[in-house]
Amino acid sequence: MSISASATPQKIHEDSRPLVLGVLALQGDYAAHARAFASLGAATRLVRKPEELEGLDGLVLPGGESTTMLKFLEKKGFFEALRAFVAGRPCFATCAGAILVARQVLHPPQRSLEALDATVERNAYGRQIDSTILTLPTELAGGPLEMVFIRAPRLVRVGPSVEVLARRDGFPVLVRQGHLLAATFHPEMTADTRVQQLFLEMVRSHKQ
Ligand code: GLN
Repeated sequence: MSISASATPQKIHEDSRPLVLGVLALQGDYAAHARAFASLGAATRLVRKPEELEGLDGLVLPGGESTTMLKFLEKKGFFEALRAFVAGRPCFATCAGAILVARQVLHPPQRSLEALDATVERNAYGRQIDSTILTLPTELAGGPLEMVFIRAPRLVRVGPSVEVLARRDGFPVLVRQGHLLAATFHPEMTADTRVQQLFLEMVRSHKQ
């Protein structure tokens, strides 16, 4: 079969390139996130330096300890580079990651990337021993979703551009704002990958 030189073969090649997701790997639960996305066919890259944000189709900001992550981010312009990335590219922020991307952080107040129009209260459900697993309804197809909450923050305010996809006791726990998806629980800790699949769809449509 002969294919004449045209833009078409190259275009097919471009479209079939696997999505490349970065996983912020300064601290916390990044390895489980990388495994979950790899199982869905995405190429993943651990991000430990600001220059490693280049060329990524999207970024995962994992759970862990947001204060510790902030300490690493204060070095070598990483905070500013990450703020620019989060402002314009698809990001999936879970738990401590959701604290990092929120516009305002309480209990106690701390610096943040100010991308998600929300106010987040840290450790709002009590201490480690109060961490819990709940199965709650969501806007995702496929029935209720198992959610692991670990020293979880609470979204005490979300702006009008934030779409609430699930709630716990009336407070949002899974939200989307344009290119940003945020959860106050840990989707990487359960076998259900519907939240990750939603993020991959967001990354794909943002790329087109
Ligand atoms: N308590 C952590 C914080 O304030 C978040 C907990 C988590 O990511 N599981 O950063």
